[in-house]
Amino acid sequence: MLAYPDEELIDIIKEVGFECDLCGRCCTNEFNDHVFLLDKDTAWLKKIDPSVIVPAPYYEFCDQNGRFYVSGYALKTKPDGSCTFLTNGRCEIYASRPSICRLYPYMLHYEADEDGNLEWRQIGGLNEHGNYHTDIDDDECKQIASDIKEYEAGYLNQKIAFLSAVDEHFKKKKKLRHVQGAYDREMRRFKKGGEIEVLVFFDGNFESVKLTRGSD
Ligand code: SF4
Repeated sequence: MLAYPDEELIDIIKEVGFECDLCGRCCTNEFNDHVFLLDKDTAWLKKIDPSVIVPAPYYEFCDQNGRFYVSGYALKTKPDGSCTFLTNGRCEIYASRPSICRLYPYMLHYEADEDGNLEWRQIGGLNEHGNYHTDIDDDECKQIASDIKEYEAGYLNQKIAFLSAVDEHFKKKKKLRHVQGAYDREMRRFKKGGEIEVLVFFDGNFESVKLTRGSD
């Protein structure tokens, strides 16, 4: 990701010329599944209102005791699928919004195409929201490109630290390991209304969160 040519990224940003039209769609889970939080975002949100964060979905692992492990928190959504901070189509914390919200729709990571082939993706929801081909000056394009790489590096570092921490935790507890059968069983229980425990990676440690359907 870091070796991806800056010039190419800057050219794409310039050529796409994305401009937000304040439709608010990217702040809904219908459009963007979930808002993953870097640790620095989580730290700030914990201070202002811990109830707005939940374990990010798609937990990576589950041990044989039925405890899930996930690499970070996400923003909670309302029952209609919109972000907890979206009110009348506007962000209540716009000036302090999380890192990914500042960057979206820009990104730089591999994603599988329809045939399963991995390809670079630089813009999310292309042609599905906002305006295009607006003029973005060169300095702003450069800044956006630099911010994209900074965010993606932060995201990858958090994922790598999480994987190392899980590995260490499993080794320390000797017999702990990921068990797909336990994962599937606990997910079925959760969907039927049962409580599950998720260990969420934050600031180098795991935080235990108990969840039932509707509180996630
Ligand atoms: S925090 Fe603000 S910008 Fe981010 S998804 Fe929520 S409403 Fe949208």
